[in-house]
Amino acid sequence: MESIFERFGELVFSDTVMKSRLPDETYRTLKDTIRLGKPLSPDVAGVVARAMKDWAMEKGVTHFTHWFQPLTGITAEKHEAFIGPAKDGTPIAAFSGHELTMGEPDASSFPSGGLRATFEARGYTAWDPTSYAFIKDGTLCIPTVFFSYSGEALDKKTPLLRSMELLNREALRVLAAIGEEASHVTPTAGAEQEYFLVKRSLYEQRRDLVFCSRTLFGAKPPKGQEMEDHYFGAISAGVADFMRELNAELWKLGVYAKTEHKEVAPGQYELAPVFAGTNTATDHNQLTMEIMRNTAHRHGYECLLHEKPFMRLNGSGKHNNWSLATDKGTNLLEPGESPRDNLRFLVFLCAVLKAVDEYHDLLRVCVASAGNDCRLGGQEAPPAIVSVFLGDELMEILKAIEQEGSYRSNGGRTIESGATVLPRLSAHNTDRNRTSPFAFTGNKFEFRMVGSSQSIADANTVLNTIVGQALSEFADELERADDKKEAASRLLRREIAKHKRILYDGNCYSDEWKKEAAARGLSILPTTVEALPCLIHKKNVELFTRHGIYSERELHSRYEIQLENYVKVVSIEAKTMLEMTHRDILPGVIAYQTELSGAASKKALLFVSNATETALLKRMSTLTDALYQSADVLDKELDAVKAESDALKAGILCKERMIPAMAELRELADKLEVVTSRKHWPFPTYEELLYSL
Ligand code: ADP
Ligand code: MG
Repeated sequence: MESIFERFGELVFSDTVMKSRLPDETYRTLKDTIRLGKPLSPDVAGVVARAMKDWAMEKGVTHFTHWFQPLTGITAEKHEAFIGPAKDGTPIAAFSGHELTMGEPDASSFPSGGLRATFEARGYTAWDPTSYAFIKDGTLCIPTVFFSYSGEALDKKTPLLRSMELLNREALRVLAAIGEEASHVTPTAGAEQEYFLVKRSLYEQRRDLVFCSRTLFGAKPPKGQEMEDHYFGAISAGVADFMRELNAELWKLGVYAKTEHKEVAPGQYELAPVFAGTNTATDHNQLTMEIMRNTAHRHGYECLLHEKPFMRLNGSGKHNNWSLATDKGTNLLEPGESPRDNLRFLVFLCAVLKAVDEYHDLLRVCVASAGNDCRLGGQEAPPAIVSVFLGDELMEILKAIEQEGSYRSNGGRTIESGATVLPRLSAHNTDRNRTSPFAFTGNKFEFRMVGSSQSIADANTVLNTIVGQALSEFADELERADDKKEAASRLLRREIAKHKRILYDGNCYSDEWKKEAAARGLSILPTTVEALPCLIHKKNVELFTRHGIYSERELHSRYEIQLENYVKVVSIEAKTMLEMTHRDILPGVIAYQTELSGAASKKALLFVSNATETALLKRMSTLTDALYQSADVLDKELDAVKAESDALKAGILCKERMIPAMAELRELADKLEVVTSRKHWPFPTYEELLYSL
């Protein structure tokens, strides 16, 4: 039987395929282009294009597309058939080097935050040869970057690629200064993707899920996640089938889907891939989200990627595991047997601490969205305050360095399980702190604030840039010093003292931490509207422009887009709530009350007690009136937001007035739900959504 793994990567124009299909000379030139970022000559592009087309057509492909990642946060594609008329009018299949390398989609309908006026609609896509082309749904997809007529990035990939170059350059300088060899450093990422599955037939009955991907109403069912019986539980046959197909599809696309399990909330799951360079990891995560959704449909499910589909249950995140790998296969954040003596590790570790401390506001900004606001700080989600967790051993080591004291390792402690038949386990040198937003987990950092629906491009662009900046300062200092070892010790001592305020190993969910963080001068940015303006603060503009990651205009455009997106998302939610209230909930509860009053009058005629009907009617009537009034209040708040032309002011109105009005409306509806007969409640409840898989 053919092993399913043999089909791994069969839809990818990978290095192996290129090697076997391209002439040696072309292959070598292309590899140089990829490695050194050299421009590709039209001749070479032509040869590559032909090989790609032949390979794709052998697999039944008829179309190609430039596949790009505009500022919507998802991917975009416009298909072109290979077919065209030859001189004699007969059809031929063609795909030129130019078509491979350049595209000119009409950019006017993508968000550009003022970077491109509609009269200047032209946008260009350019092949990114560092990410392999692949076949999706019978179309050859060519990963590209997307930019405007004036050369500004209109996508999420261009800044990411720029930040990877910065990091490579600065990490190599530091390595050279401390006498270590490497010719390339790549930031790596592994994104653990959380998601919910619900039955599609139920999903279709709820406008909030259809329009907003989250429930805007819904009383808590008698059983939520309190029994802690979902996490790592056995997977039902239907979901297992879905996962099998999902894995098979992802493997064919060269995505190393590795880990799958049930998450904490009922209906919640996770998929984690093997990590890759941040560029590939970003593409693969986009593909994963898309394939998850499509595969779910084929199995009668809807896959919810929203950060908080269900109130009072855990939300979904995307833990972004991040580290640095050299071309020699070294993980620069690997502490090794004796971290205290591992200068390379300590220097890179301190660069991350410095980066996170100095730019913790940027890490908050890159995960800011209306959806993630519902999650951060809630059930088991990291708080909105950024801090770093290192674990006992590393904390002791840093203390020893700072105080020039001695440090004795606890010598690879082993854990006793108590039963002699079981192997002795060696304890990880970091105990896990699940409450930390940025935790060191053995040989990588896990940034847990990223939302489940977000592209990981922004988070990795920020991480690469801020660590690149810290490394460049370290490199300046170390390159100047005569005695490198001495200079490095001095640098570590100083940086630890300066940045230790970002370290916190307590419970990040606690109120004490909020107070403590404020006392330490860390910025507390609870929601998107507080966080976003930091993107255009002087220090951050200077950082990004200095390294050419974003121009000032590019940054402003992203600020505008994110802010507008926030206002749009919250407004759509408010409108959906109003529609559901007027067209579903009110008719439903009124019908039930009519039935109750009918029963009450009939009983009265028969001189039978109608105390229950009357009491229930009164209670429901009061709630219904309040619901109706509350909808009016929300309607007015919505008008106020619509009338506000300044995006930040509109955002503040959403946060301070509209979201509280939505919460009030929901509370009333949820109270009505629990006293309304199942027959009259107009859409599936939490119970049905969560317990039907
Ligand atoms: P957990 O849920 O316990 O945090 P998982 O196994 O679900 O762990 O996910 C860990 C993720 O971290 C995986 O995607 C893995 O590939 C990734 N990872 C491991 N090492 C690195 C590294 N050096 N750089 C980036 N990501 C890494
Ligand atoms: Mg995991």
